[in-house]
Amino acid sequence: MKAWFAIPLWKRVIAALILGVIVGYIWGPGAESIKIIGDVFIDFIKMLIVPLIFFSVVSGIAAIGDVGRLGAVGWRAILLFVLTGQVAVWLGLGLGTWFEPGVGIDTSGLPLAEISEPQAFDWRTMLRSMIPVSPVAVMADVRVLPLIVFSVLVGIGILLARREEDEGEGSSGAVATVARIFDGGALLFQKITILVMELTPFGVFALMAWVVGTLGLDAVAALARLVAMNYLGCLLIIGIMYVGILKFVAKVSITGFFRGMVDAIAVAYSTASSSATLPVTLRCTQRNLGVSKPTSSFVVSLGSTINMDGTAMYLGLATLFAAQMFNVDLTMGDYLIVALLATFGSIGAAGIPGAGLVMMGGIFVAVQVPLEAIAFVAGVDRIMDMMRTATNVTGDATVTVTTASMLGELDKHELASADDV
Ligand code: ASP
Repeated sequence: MKAWFAIPLWKRVIAALILGVIVGYIWGPGAESIKIIGDVFIDFIKMLIVPLIFFSVVSGIAAIGDVGRLGAVGWRAILLFVLTGQVAVWLGLGLGTWFEPGVGIDTSGLPLAEISEPQAFDWRTMLRSMIPVSPVAVMADVRVLPLIVFSVLVGIGILLARREEDEGEGSSGAVATVARIFDGGALLFQKITILVMELTPFGVFALMAWVVGTLGLDAVAALARLVAMNYLGCLLIIGIMYVGILKFVAKVSITGFFRGMVDAIAVAYSTASSSATLPVTLRCTQRNLGVSKPTSSFVVSLGSTINMDGTAMYLGLATLFAAQMFNVDLTMGDYLIVALLATFGSIGAAGIPGAGLVMMGGIFVAVQVPLEAIAFVAGVDRIMDMMRTATNVTGDATVTVTTASMLGELDKHELASADDV
């Protein structure tokens, strides 16, 4: 038992992945009999969709409350977070559309839950479906779009009420307590997610054996294409978007930046957790990149929860992959919904391993892609999670350095001297 936990989770997952492929290849369709283990794993992930989105989105929006206090820094950072996030989402959708990683697998033999006919895009229907008429029903039915609308409203409500409370004399502090409850709830469900992630090696083993046993090696090739697209997307985000911003907006040395950040990037890649990497990212931005303590603590911590470009790109890409796999036609309206959900999904995703996978389940439900698709993608999620986390962390540092540089408070000498270390 001790020996099992002594091996880092990602190594256990990769071993399970390889073993699953081998067992599925040898066992063939009979591997279906162990799919139940994978189903249980996915059920636990589904369990997390509603509470994790609700608590994390509310506490993420409420965290913006400090933005006003940090004025110039806050707004610049948020603007950069939003802009880079949008480029990332559409990059994921673009890669998925052009390269069609999910086309060519014959899934016709798989038993699937009924999917209703795709409906023509009608903005009136879409608008109304976004309104959480009954928040309880929305949660019970796992309807992600209205759930996000509701969570954003609760977050905004907290922001407004807290401002009033801060200004008012003799305030009871009740709203601040509510905000803390959401922070606590988000933390609590993050812990539960980490627990559920301990099931990953078993789930991955069973799912890969089933996928390969029933669909053959074609499925492995398709999954390999998805993983390759994910790495390509992340590398484009880092190599073109971040490098471009650092060079032309922040005007800093690129090698200095990456040398200064190498520790954080390595920790992010191996832990697949932006939150766990936070202390290292803070140290790198302050010590090696020359950003002042107040600016870096604020921008890096806010970024580690709401700025996840790797995750945003992945959510778009994975949804297209799953839709292609199951021949679900996505309309332009669906693309817009996916883009919107991927944006909020990346804001709402906690900085922990597997958070993107939970959000992905939510998006599948919204655009009527069979939830069974999670079972396919889950098998290779960890390898992709590592890369998107490294991207997320690099993005946080890029925005931090750029904001500091825009305000003329960056110690460029320190950053350049990272060249010599
Ligand atoms: N693991 C990622 C992070 O911590 C989130 C995700 O699953 O995409 O940044």
